[in-house]
Amino acid sequence: MTELDTTQERTPSTPPAWEYADAPESKDIVTLQDRYGLFIGGEFVEPKSGRYMATIDPSTEEVLAEVPEAGAEDVDLAVTAARDAFDSHWRDLPGRERAKYLYRIARALQERAREFAVLESMNGGKPIKESRDIDLPLAAAHFFYYAGWADKLDYAFPGRTAKPIGVAGQVIPWNFPMLMAAWKLAPALATGNTTVLKPAETTPLTALLLAEVIQAAELPPGAVNVITGAGETGAALVAADVDKVAFTGSTEVGKAIRRTVAGTNKRLTLELGGKAANIVFEDAPLDQAVEGVVNGIFFNQGHVCCAGSRLLVQEPIFDALLEKLKARLQTLRVGDPLDKNTDIGAINSRAQLTRIEELVASGVEEGAEMYQPVCDLPERGFWFRPTLFTGVSQSHRIAREEIFGPVLSILTFRTPEEAVEKANNTPYGLSAGVWTEKGSRILWMAERLQAGVVWANTFNRFDPSSPFGGYKESGFGREGGLHGLAPYVELTPRNGAS
Ligand code: NAD
Ligand code: MN
Repeated sequence: MTELDTTQERTPSTPPAWEYADAPESKDIVTLQDRYGLFIGGEFVEPKSGRYMATIDPSTEEVLAEVPEAGAEDVDLAVTAARDAFDSHWRDLPGRERAKYLYRIARALQERAREFAVLESMNGGKPIKESRDIDLPLAAAHFFYYAGWADKLDYAFPGRTAKPIGVAGQVIPWNFPMLMAAWKLAPALATGNTTVLKPAETTPLTALLLAEVIQAAELPPGAVNVITGAGETGAALVAADVDKVAFTGSTEVGKAIRRTVAGTNKRLTLELGGKAANIVFEDAPLDQAVEGVVNGIFFNQGHVCCAGSRLLVQEPIFDALLEKLKARLQTLRVGDPLDKNTDIGAINSRAQLTRIEELVASGVEEGAEMYQPVCDLPERGFWFRPTLFTGVSQSHRIAREEIFGPVLSILTFRTPEEAVEKANNTPYGLSAGVWTEKGSRILWMAERLQAGVVWANTFNRFDPSSPFGGYKESGFGREGGLHGLAPYVELTPRNGAS
């Protein structure tokens, strides 16, 4: 027996004496195909474009499979299949029948949750503990939640009749592939629309596995179509004969989509970027706040549109908070996404890593002070250490632009008024966090913060019954909750209603 060294002190520079054993989740549960098809009209088909692209594991750069790059003809086929399914079947199904299909999908996601979670982590780089405990349970919860609404639309919209819009073109990003697919598909189907979904080019595999689940659930062919491809495919889908466009991704692409849709009858919702303030007052419980700050920016490698990427600290506690934060950063484990102890996995793509590196370099160049804990990074794959910046001024790029990586910019404030002003001094408005013991201050702040979601003494907390969405350049429209039904329905006064 070895004796434990109890004399060793824990400071930011000396990590704990004990080591973690490797705890890798097995990949055996996942069966990959060499080549996937497009899911159109209930079948997996070869792309008319004849083009394929490789999809990789960002933690090893190993090729996992090839997926089709859908061209304009493929997009039209998918939209036509969705249109046929809408006209011939789906729109006229009673809500309780649509609900059955949604419940089937939800249950299948629960039954196959481990398979989905492992594949999500393999293709996207996120830690298995997050895909297992957050992405998959929440995706299933969204299908359950909207299944519940499918036969209760009269109650959702009292005095009015809710009719589906038609075919939805849905383009999603790579940071929460399954969760975003659920956010898009569940409300659209519950309200009687049919859809064509395009996952992001770096993370197509769980969407294709979801297509298998949808096929097995025996949804009417064409009710859901999944087409893979890059930006060009997304642009073609937005321009195609769809009645509604739902997009989550960058503000830049959101603007381009809005231009395409302008002057048409297409309905549009946009969920775009963010630069959220996480605001810690001097009376906040510091250890809890530190956990919230860490969760706010390092969850999912900081690839989170509502990430708490700007920390605003009240001046009297700045030193104490910074010291605790640095010590906490030193305990974060960066590495293999499939290891159950991993806190920070791989950056999703080389392109995203380059973007993070460029913005971090600008922070150093503009005079902010950078802190990174000591940690080894794997040789292959895309990695970035958890990073803090102090001495950040409001004009720095790292205080204004979305980094979308594990990088926190720390600013200070003196009064609540100053906190509000700094928090709102951004083109975005997706989320904010407030840490204080004072309930009245939480309400005072929440009234003044221009953000779709304001969390109090917590951060990055999601629930299917709670609406989510932005102000200003973070986009418009709400997803989740009762609000999430509205973008997918046409409302008319109900007969006999006054
Ligand atoms: P992106 O906006 O280019 O990609 C998101 C989705 O849009 C993908 O499916 C992509 O194929 C598709 N797309 C790209 N161009 C399109 C077009 N012209 N028309 C229709 N669809 C198109 O995002 P990105 O380039 O991968 O990332 C760039 C930055 O965007 C990130 O650094 C981050 O700041 C931000 N981002 C935000 C979110 C979010 O959840 N809000 C998600 C991803 C990226
Ligand atoms: Mn892009």
